[in-house]
Amino acid sequence: MKRIAILGSTGSIGTQTLDIVRSHTQELEVVALAAGSNTALMEAQIREFHPQVAVMWSGEAAAELRVRVADCPVKVLEGMEGLLEIAVLPQAEVLVTAIVGMIGIRPTIAAIKAGKDIALANKETLVCAGHIIIPLANECGVSILPVDSEHSAIFQSLNGEPAGRISRILLTASGGPFRGRTREQLSGVQVEDALKHPNWAMGRKITVDSSTMVNKGLEVMEAKWLFGVKPEQIQVVVHPQSIIHSMVEFIDGAVIAQLGVPDMKLPIQYALFYPDRRAMGDNRVDFFKLGSVTFEEPDMETFYGLKLAYQALEQGGSLPTVYNAANERAVALFLERKIGYLQIPELIQRCMEEHDPVENPNVEEILAAEQSVYDYIKELM
Ligand code: NDP
Repeated sequence: MKRIAILGSTGSIGTQTLDIVRSHTQELEVVALAAGSNTALMEAQIREFHPQVAVMWSGEAAAELRVRVADCPVKVLEGMEGLLEIAVLPQAEVLVTAIVGMIGIRPTIAAIKAGKDIALANKETLVCAGHIIIPLANECGVSILPVDSEHSAIFQSLNGEPAGRISRILLTASGGPFRGRTREQLSGVQVEDALKHPNWAMGRKITVDSSTMVNKGLEVMEAKWLFGVKPEQIQVVVHPQSIIHSMVEFIDGAVIAQLGVPDMKLPIQYALFYPDRRAMGDNRVDFFKLGSVTFEEPDMETFYGLKLAYQALEQGGSLPTVYNAANERAVALFLERKIGYLQIPELIQRCMEEHDPVENPNVEEILAAEQSVYDYIKELM
């Protein structure tokens, strides 16, 4: 029996993780769950999965949950203290980080120090603190198992081969709903348009990030840390069918890819059972129906959020944090209809230009850089 704790259990990745637990009740057990404010779904999850601990971010939501589950033997905690307690819970072997944003950094570090393996969906953690997390994981002998579909594909393609044998990582991207459009054509994009992803059903923030290609930028940064390669070894390849989830080109020119239908359950399940595999449904790639797969170079001028990601990665230090924080706030403002679509990369660029980078930032400096971006954007607005 593998015991897991899930940060972000009510979200897109969190609920799909619980779907997998539901299909493997003899092998997986949930010992702790955490969410932001969705007390109704958390109550249903507690009644179905019987975790020992549940955390809600706000005190108000935690108080409401305590009333809802007063008849259940579950300890309800709140805030960062609660997340940190779940992260180090002695009963858990694996922490699934399916929370959104930099809030995931401290619990992830705490879990690594406590010797837990991490099934990592929360890419922001590596983007901002990869220089802390990866050496720490190596030192503590814990595995960081990628949940992001592209990184899982790379991980599966590598199958244990060392970084020294990688020539390039070919990180595939669907191109999102606006592939092929010009900057002028993007000026009138509305929230509803950006939330229509052609292939993947995901949370709102990451769906907007996919449309701007900022998600791919964050994934480039995530790949650098997970696989120990240089930024110039990571090539984004637009592949609209989303069947090839990414590829590795080795030093001898061999290219190994992982293919599958676009379904996040596969990478989540792979991370939970690694190095084993388990059977899963019958939704398979039908190559005859698919007919052809195509590839394009990314348009880094129109979707310059991707170009900015490479710049942030090259300069390093606190700049990736600034990139991520500025995007987080810009996407939130866009979803609230307070800024236009094209202002998302504009804000990221402006925040990066304004920032005085800190080299090798510690967690406090990362969080301070995040706050300075939020303050700057508030002033601008
Ligand atoms: P969602 O928005 O669907 O879910 C976010 C989850 O985090 C919810 O459970 C939410 O709770 C919880 N949460 C938010 N803020 C807090 C907080 N302060 N404290 C505790 N819990 C909190 O996001 P996704 O599932 O789409 O994404 C999660 C992460 O996985 C992101 O980093 C994303 O980039 C990454 N990812 C997602 C993929 C996908 O297919 N969705 C693919 C690859 C990576 P509540 O519901 O109560 O608000």
